[in-house]
Amino acid sequence: MQSLRSTALNNLSNASDFKVDGSPKITAIFNENVFTLKVARQFLSDEAYKSLAASIKSGKKIDRSMGSHIANGVRAWAESKGVTHFTHWFQPLTGLSAEKHDSFFTLKGDGTPIEEFDGGALIQQEPDASSFPSGGLRATFEARGYTAWDPSSPAFIMEIGEGKTLCIPTIFVSYTGESLDTKTPLLKALVALDKAAVDVCQYFDKNVTRVTATLGWEQEYFVVDAGLSNARPDLVLTGRTVFGHAPAKGQQLEDHYFGSIPERVYAFMRDFENESYKLGIPLRTRHNEVAPAQFECAPIFEEVNLAVDHNTLLMDVMTRVAKRHNLKVLLHEKPFAGINGSGKHNNWSMATDTGVNLLAPGKTPKTNLMFLTFFVNTIKAVHTYADLLRASIASAGNDHRLGANEAPPAIISIFIGKYLTDVLNQVESRVGGKFDEQDEAMLKLDIHKSIPELMLDNTDRNRTSPFAFTGNKFEFRAVGSSANCATSMTALNTIVAETLKQFKKDVDALIEKGEKKEIAIMQIIQKYIVESKAVLFEGDGYSEAWAQEAEKRGLPNVKTTPLALDAYLTEQSKALFESNGIYNHLELEARHEIMLEDYIKKVQIEARVMGELATTYILPSAIKYQNILINNIKGLKDAGMPETAYSNQQQILQRTCEHIMVMSDSVEKMIEARKQANEITDTRERAIAYCDNVKGPYFDTIRYHVDKLELLVDDAHWLLPKYREILFLR
Ligand code: ADP
Ligand code: MG
Repeated sequence: MQSLRSTALNNLSNASDFKVDGSPKITAIFNENVFTLKVARQFLSDEAYKSLAASIKSGKKIDRSMGSHIANGVRAWAESKGVTHFTHWFQPLTGLSAEKHDSFFTLKGDGTPIEEFDGGALIQQEPDASSFPSGGLRATFEARGYTAWDPSSPAFIMEIGEGKTLCIPTIFVSYTGESLDTKTPLLKALVALDKAAVDVCQYFDKNVTRVTATLGWEQEYFVVDAGLSNARPDLVLTGRTVFGHAPAKGQQLEDHYFGSIPERVYAFMRDFENESYKLGIPLRTRHNEVAPAQFECAPIFEEVNLAVDHNTLLMDVMTRVAKRHNLKVLLHEKPFAGINGSGKHNNWSMATDTGVNLLAPGKTPKTNLMFLTFFVNTIKAVHTYADLLRASIASAGNDHRLGANEAPPAIISIFIGKYLTDVLNQVESRVGGKFDEQDEAMLKLDIHKSIPELMLDNTDRNRTSPFAFTGNKFEFRAVGSSANCATSMTALNTIVAETLKQFKKDVDALIEKGEKKEIAIMQIIQKYIVESKAVLFEGDGYSEAWAQEAEKRGLPNVKTTPLALDAYLTEQSKALFESNGIYNHLELEARHEIMLEDYIKKVQIEARVMGELATTYILPSAIKYQNILINNIKGLKDAGMPETAYSNQQQILQRTCEHIMVMSDSVEKMIEARKQANEITDTRERAIAYCDNVKGPYFDTIRYHVDKLELLVDDAHWLLPKYREILFLR
C-alpha cells in the first residue's frame, strides 16, 4: 500500500483549482449577509424597529411583546436570501462556536405545513446542554441550559458549505443563570467598564454618557496542504506536530516575512476575505508572517463584543473556506517546533460616545489630563492583576509559546516608550504629590504633540513586551492564536473597571477634603505611578536578565497553565469578579475546573498520539531500515570485504538501535506516568501531574530521538510528511 505521505505528495501538483470570483468591490458585498439596522429598517414595522434599535443602544433585553414582530422581519429577510434553517450561535467553554440547526418549517395543528419563526425561537432556546463543559455547574443545579439573544451582535447568514443558515448570536447560561459561555461574562465586564469609565469621564466632560471598549485583533495562522496535513495524525488530532525535524531551511533566511504571498494561499485569502466581508467582518490587512507558511490578518477595530464574535466567526470561516482550496488552516499556538508559533495581538482602547479615544493623547491640557488618567489607571490595573491577566491567556497551546523567545515571556510587563516614561517620571518626581496652581505647566504637558510621531515610529516599538502602548491603544500581545478573545478581554476590562472605581473613590476623598479637582486627580495619578511602576519595562523581554530583574520587582512569572490558573481563585480575584458582578464564586470555580480539564485532555491526547506514532509509524520504519543495514553489512562481510567497507553502516545501525531503545523505553515510561496521573482525583493535582510527570520528562525526550531517527532512516520508508514538505511545498 502506498503511504498517505506519498499519495499526498503525488497529489500536490493538482492540489487545487478553485477559482475565486473576480475581485468584487468590498463595499458592494460588505454586510451582505448581516441583519444590520439598515436592513431592519426595511423589514420591520416602525415600532419593532424602534424597539430593536433601543435594545442595541442600551444593551437591554428585547421587549417580549415585540419579539414576534422582530422575528417575522428577520425571517422575511432570511427567506429572501434563500435561508431555510436558523440556529442560535453561541460560544461555549470549549473555545469554539456551537450551533443547533432548526428549520422554519413546522406543521400546524391540522397538519398544514408552514414556515414559522416566532419571537420565542428568536429570543430564547434550550439546546441540549449536556455535552458542553459546565465544570459541574449544571450537575449542581439543573440539567438544562438555555441560549438567549444578544441583540448587540447582529444576526447573520452563514452560507459556506451546506445550505444557508440564519445565525442568532446568543449567550449560553444554565437554567439557574450561571454563565456557561465566554460571551456572558464579557458583556458583564463591558457594562462594568462602561459605568466606571463614564463616572471618571465626568471629571472632564459632563456630556459623556457611554464608554465602549474597543478591540482590534491580529490573527496569526499557518496554512498547509490538506493532503499532507491529513497524512499527519498528530496534526489531525492535536493541531500540532508532535514530531518533525527542523528542515535544512527554516526561517533563518527571514525571507518569508517580506516575500510575496504564494498563489494558492492568495486565492484562499481572497476567498475567505470575501466571505468575511459578507458577514460584516471588516478585514483590513493581510501579510506573510515570520515563519514559512505563516500569515496574519487584521480587521479595523470594533466594539469589543462584536470584535470577539467576529474573530470567532473568522476562525470558523477560514477553516471552512480552506477546505474548498484543499488547504488546512492551523490556528494552534505552536504547530511546528523550532519555528515561530502564532499569537493573536489584542489591540484595546476605550471610546466615549462623544467620539473621544480615551487612550489618545488630547489637544488641550484638560484632555491630556483625561488621557493620563486612563493611561495610568490601565497601568495600575495591569500591575495589580498581572497574575490574572497571565491566567486569562493560559492554555496548553500557549505554554509552548510564552517565553520561547518568539512571543512575550510569561512575565506580564508594560512597554510605554521613552517619551511617556519621561512624562511619568516627571509626575512621579513631584515630592509628596504637591501639585498646586503654579503647576499649571504640569497640566499643560505637550503630550499630544510629541507622542504620535514618537509612537508611530516603528523603531520605538518593543516587540518583546506582552503589553505595549502603541500611541493610541494598548496591545496585549500574549494572547494565543486559537484563543477566544473574550477570556482575555473579560479579565482586562474588569480589572480596568475596578481600578477606575477605586480611582474615583480616591479622587473624591481628596476633593471632599477641599482639594481642587485637577490637583486631586494629579495627586492620585502620582500615587498610582509610584505604586505600579514596577510593571513598566522597556528592555528586552526575552533576556535572562529580565527574568531575574522581574523576580526582584516581585512580578509573577508562572510558566505553566495548571499553576497560572490558580490566579482565578485568589481572594483578590474572587473579590474582583464578585463585586463587579462578572462571576460568582461558583462560576469561577467551575471555569477553573473546566480550564484544568481542558489542559489535561489536550496533554493526554498529545501523549497518546505520541505513543501511538512512535510505536506504529516510527518504529516499523526504523526497523525496516535496520534490516536493510544488517543485510548490507552481512552481505559485505560474506563477500569478504574489509571492515572499512561496512564500518559506517555499523555506526549508523548502532545509532539507530540506540534511538529506538530510548524512544521505546520513554514511551513505556510515559504511559506509566499517564496511568498514575489518571488516578489522581483532584483536578488541579492531576493537571500538574500531566504537566510535570507526563509532558515534562517525556515529550522532549521522545521527540528528540524520533527526530534523530528521521535524519537516519531511509526517506522512502518514512511515513510522516516532513517539515520541508509541509512548510515549503505549495
Ligand atoms: P500594527 O500593530 O501592525 O502597527 P495598526 O496599528 O494599524 O497595526 O493596528 C493594529 C490593530 O489595532 C488593527 O486591528 C486596528 O484596527 C487596531 N486599532 C487601532 N486603533 C484602535 C483602537 N482605538 N482600539 C482598538 N484597536 C485599535
Ligand atoms: Mg500589532
